[in-house]
Formats: sequence, C-alpha cells, structure tokens
Amino acid sequence: MFSTNYFTSILLIAFFFYSSNLISQRRVKESAKTEVSAPLKTTPKLIVGIVVDQMRYDYLTRFWNHFGTGGFKRLVNEGFNCKNNHFNYSPTSTGPGHASVYTGTTPSTHGIIGNNWYDKEIDEPVYCASDDSYATVGAISNAGNMSPHRLTVTTITDQLRLHTQMKGKVVAIALKDRGAVLPGGHTANAAYWFLGGGEGKWISSTYYMENLPRWVLDYNSSKVVEKYKKPWNTIEDITSYKESGPDNNNYEGLFTGESTPVFPHDLPGLWDNNSKYDLLKVTPFGNSITTDFVIEALKGEQLGTDSITDFLAISFSSTDYVGHWFGVNSKEIQDTYIRLDRDLERILKYLDTKVGAGEYTVFLTADHGAINVPAYLKDQKIPAGYINRTEIQSELGEFIKYKYGSADLIKNYSNNQLFLDHKIIQNLDLNPKEVQEALASELLSYQVFERVYTAYQMQNNEYTTGIPYIIQNGYNMKRSGDIFMVPKPGIIDYSKTGSTHGSAQIYDTHTPLIFYGKGIKPGSTALRTEIPDIAPTIATLLGIAFPNGTTGKPITQILE
Ligand SMILES: [Zn+2]
Repeated sequence: MFSTNYFTSILLIAFFFYSSNLISQRRVKESAKTEVSAPLKTTPKLIVGIVVDQMRYDYLTRFWNHFGTGGFKRLVNEGFNCKNNHFNYSPTSTGPGHASVYTGTTPSTHGIIGNNWYDKEIDEPVYCASDDSYATVGAISNAGNMSPHRLTVTTITDQLRLHTQMKGKVVAIALKDRGAVLPGGHTANAAYWFLGGGEGKWISSTYYMENLPRWVLDYNSSKVVEKYKKPWNTIEDITSYKESGPDNNNYEGLFTGESTPVFPHDLPGLWDNNSKYDLLKVTPFGNSITTDFVIEALKGEQLGTDSITDFLAISFSSTDYVGHWFGVNSKEIQDTYIRLDRDLERILKYLDTKVGAGEYTVFLTADHGAINVPAYLKDQKIPAGYINRTEIQSELGEFIKYKYGSADLIKNYSNNQLFLDHKIIQNLDLNPKEVQEALASELLSYQVFERVYTAYQMQNNEYTTGIPYIIQNGYNMKRSGDIFMVPKPGIIDYSKTGSTHGSAQIYDTHTPLIFYGKGIKPGSTALRTEIPDIAPTIATLLGIAFPNGTTGKPITQILE
C-alpha cells in the first residue's frame, strides 16, 4: 500500500503546519497585546447619531452649492462618505428605519415591521412605539404612552450602557416619538419628543423617568419655541433656488387656508386652522427647535464631558413632514435642507466647544428615502402612477368570493402585505400555501404590481440579491403577513400631492451615510454599504459588543 516514506513525509508536513501554526498563534497573541490599549486611545467622549428623516442621497449633491462650510460639507470633506448606502429591506419607513440603524439588523430580526402593523397575536393594529403600560411625563396627554417594548433585540446604545455598567449616558431626541424611542433602545437614560397642538413642548414617558429634569422644564417654560411662529420665507433669495421646481405647481399639498403652495407661508395666519404647534413640524423650524433642544440637552446632561463615552441620538423629523407635504422637488424641501445645514453647523460648533474638537464621533444617515411625486414624473413622460386601494380590495374580494365562497379570508391589508385569516382557511379545509399562491398570482395580474411573493417563499428560500432579498429582510416569521406585493417603480399608494416612501425600490433605499470625527479615516467609497452595517461599525470603533441581533458588518475602510 503506502511506503513508510510517504508516512514520514505526511508526518513532516503535519509537523510543519503544527509549528507554523504555533508561530502564527504567538504572532496573533503579540499583536493582540499591542492592540489592547489601542481601542481605548481612540474612544470618543461622545457618539452623535444623526438620522435625517426621509433624506435621499442626492439631496447632498443637489443642494451642495448652497451649503455652508460648517454643516454637511464639513462632515463630507473631513469625514467618510458612503455614496452607495442602502436600506436592505422593506417597508422603508420611519419605525423600521430607526430600529435598523441602531440594532444593526432588519425587521426580520428586530421585529419593527412597520410604523403601524396588524398584530396577529392580539388581532389588532398596533403602533411601533406605543405602550399603554406607561404614561406621559410633562403633559396631560397620551402622546407619551410609549416604550421600545416591540423592539425584540438590543441597540448599539444598549450595548454602550451594558459595556459601561450603565455609566455611559444615552439621550435620544426627535420631534417624532418613534424617532427617539427606538434609537434610545431599552436602557436609554431618556428619550424626548415634541408635543404639538396647543402645547409646543418636549415630553417623555414614565418608561424613562417620573419627572422631567430641571433643564427640560426650564426649556419648556421659556417658550423659546414661540419665536418660530413667524412667516416661513426662504432663507436665501428664492431666485437662487435653481435646484428645485417652480414654487407654484400642482404637485404640492396646501396648508388649510392657503390657495397656492407658495412662499411666504404665513404661519401665524395659518396657525389656528393647522393644529398650531403641529404646523411647525411641517416647516424647517421643526428642525431648528430640535437643534435648540439638542444644545440644551448637551448642556443639561453634560454629555461627553467625562472619560466614559456617552451617546446622543438625534433625529430630524421635519425633513419628512416637508417631503410628504410638498414633495422632493419643491422649493420648500430645498429651503428645508439649506436650513438644516445651518442647524448642523450650529450643533457641530457647540460640540467643538463643549466636548472638544476631535473628541467626538458623528454619523449621519436617514431612515428611508423618498420618491419624486408620481404625478410630476408622469408629466415628464416617466412611467409612474398611483395604487387605487379600494379598487384592488373590491377586485380581490370578488376573486376570493368566487374561488372560496367566503369574502372574509383577508384579515388586513397594510404595508403592501396581506394578512390572511388562518382560522377561516382551516375551517374551509384549505391549504394555506395554495391559498397564498392563488392570491399571489391573482394580484400579479393587477397592473400596479411588478412582483408578488408569498410567506411560504420567504420561509423556504434564501435570497441574496435584488427585490426578493429586500422583501425577505423585511419578513418577520412571527409578525409579517402572508403575501407581499411589490408595486412597479414609480407607483405608490398615496395622495396625488407630496412624496412618500415605504417600497423596496431604489429611491426609497438609497440614503446618505457619513462618518466623521474621532477614529474615522477621511475618504469615500462607492462600494455598497447597508444600513445594518452602521451599528457594528460604531461597536468596533468603541470596542464594545455588537447589538445582539446584528446581521450587518463593520465598514472597515472608515476605521483608523
Ligand atoms: Zn415619512
């Protein structure tokens, strides 16, 4: 059979591998030793996470010439710009967006499958952040009955809290409750959001605290928000706004009491008929109010002033309200981004003096993108249009009645998903997989949908690219529906004015991602990065554990 020589050589080879393995193990140990103190040296005093609600990537480039040197340009020029950054799941909406940025994973794992969804277990629609076991702090209202209890995994902010034995502070701030509650994770010291209507103040939930801290009470009673109850005019000469469409057009919503959607928007005159302080949310002043409050928080909580890293999670919500109301091509959205640039500059300058230039790290991203108003696209001869939901529901109802003799088979239609009534399916002795397939092929024959998938497909395949990959990352086995409709590019389920989002299409997934500051190597990449990569990147920078559901991976090019 084999000669002894053969065995000797095998032994020799084995020994060679064994010893070289020892050498390389030693090398790893040595380099680990030298690296032990390295992460501590680069640990920033403060991480500032900035989510700009509904920010498309191309807003950076479209409005670039109007930006000053201290806001977006400072972040891009001195930081690391990921130019090809995407959401890798749908629905692309605010709740899932904030959850995914902070958990490093997608709805399939973190459980936030929409802003609102139909909860199969309790047979009722639910809101992603609501929790009636907690009450409002700071007002008589139920707007503070919130908690992160529907988020099933930890966030990067939770991991920082755990790593520092709860000594690193986490504060989350946004006009929208979900824009603060989800980034704060389960262990935040505080999350604050803005109560509109006749109130105009920052509130929280008993999940975090029994009473608002002094600095918040002082801010609320100072009534500084009053100063934004003024006409909304463009901050620069409107004739210089050449990167957006004409001010007066048919693609924009009107505030109650306005006859044309043009500047100046007379906020004091519109005040009473547009829910008072809620009106400010639909203007860039909502972002300025957020900025004012962020600066008060930095002061009041002394964030980033000791050797233990703190985390400030900011979300700018007004960009989303303005986009929904006026659309992505409006003068209003252009003005909102030019003003946001000034607000960013204000925050960065304050961080320089309070925390110290070079002592903090910032990331800026979005929670989803947005589509150009389909009515506008159509007028430019681009395929686009609207879903007529009533028509779809009645057509589908007819089909089900004809095929199964019962019209009640569908429990819920939301987020481009259908939830089926599995009790009825059982009672009729139907095979759920066959029902899903029959409905999917019926829906595929409808003009507005380009693809339809079933839960059965999601559970039995592993998709790695394209639209099915995006649908699957949004598919949560326990919470999601039975059928997933994908509208054609350009087609939305929304009013004929303003922009929206939520789809698996590229205009909703392509968003900015910029890292800046301590531990970040300046540069840029056109390689694809994905939203769940953010949390593990920050975790690597800090040398702390990844959030417990992480599916993204650190973006290594940016780390020093
Ligand atoms: Zn939105």
